Amino acid sequence: MSNELGTLSIVATPIGNLADMTFRAVEVLKNVDCILCEDTRTTGKLLAHYGIKNKTQSYHSHTKLAKLDLFITMIREGKNLALVSDAGTPCISDPGVMLVAKLREEFGNDFKVIAIPGASALVSALSISGLPAHEFTWKGFVPHKKGRETFFTDVSEIETTVIFYESVHRFLKTLESLAEKIPNRNICVARELTKMFEETVNGTTFEVLEYFQNNPDKVRGEFVIVVGSK
Ligand code: SAM
Repeated sequence: MSNELGTLSIVATPIGNLADMTFRAVEVLKNVDCILCEDTRTTGKLLAHYGIKNKTQSYHSHTKLAKLDLFITMIREGKNLALVSDAGTPCISDPGVMLVAKLREEFGNDFKVIAIPGASALVSALSISGLPAHEFTWKGFVPHKKGRETFFTDVSEIETTVIFYESVHRFLKTLESLAEKIPNRNICVARELTKMFEETVNGTTFEVLEYFQNNPDKVRGEFVIVVGSK
C-alpha cells in the first residue's frame, strides 16, 4: 500500500454540447482510479461518447456517510478520484461541495484537490450577457417557497450584477417578481446554452417578461438569469 494520499480532481463537463469537453478532462477521466458522479447513467453517456472505460460510483446529496468513508479510504490508499456533476463545473450549486469539504477536513493541506476547468452555466451566461462583469454577486438557485420574497428584495438592492439559476417550473413567476420590484433594470436570460435551442433575451425585466409571456413555447429548458447592476 502506498503512503501517498490519492488526489481528487474536480472535472468540469459540458452543459449541453458534448464537444465542450477539454482534452485534459478526457485524460483525467481515463486515468483516475474511479469517477464519482451525480448520476452514473448521465455520466455513462459522456464516457461512452469519449470512449472512456472507467469505474464510476454515485455521489449525490443523499449519499450516506458510509460511502463517504469509502472515498476517504480510497484516498488514504493512494487512489486518485475524479468528481463530475451532471453538467458543468462540480460544486457550483451541485452536491460536490460537501465531499470536497469533508475530504479537506479529513486530510488537511497534504491532500491535493485539482481543478480541471471547463464549462459552467453561470460564467457562460455572464460572458454573453453584455452586462457589467467586473464585479458580480452569485446567488445560486432561487428558493422554492420560503425566502423567495427576501431573495428578490436582496436582488433589487444589490449594487453589482447578480446571477442566479431558475428551473423551468418557476421561471415565469420569477420574472414576474423581478418585474414587480425592478421593472426597468436591464437583464439577460440565457436559455439552453450550447444546445440546439440556445437563446439569449436582453431587455428590461418588464420587456423580457413580456417576451416570454408572448412566447410560451420558449419557456422550456434550462435558464440562467443575469440582472444588470443598479
Ligand atoms: N454546476 C453547474 C454549472 O457549473 O453550470 C450547474 C448545475 S445546477 C444543478 C443546474 C442549473 O444550471 C440548471 O437548473 C440551470 O439553471 C443551469 N444550467 C445548466 N446547464 C445550462 C444550460 N445549458 N443553459 C442554461 N442554464 C443551464
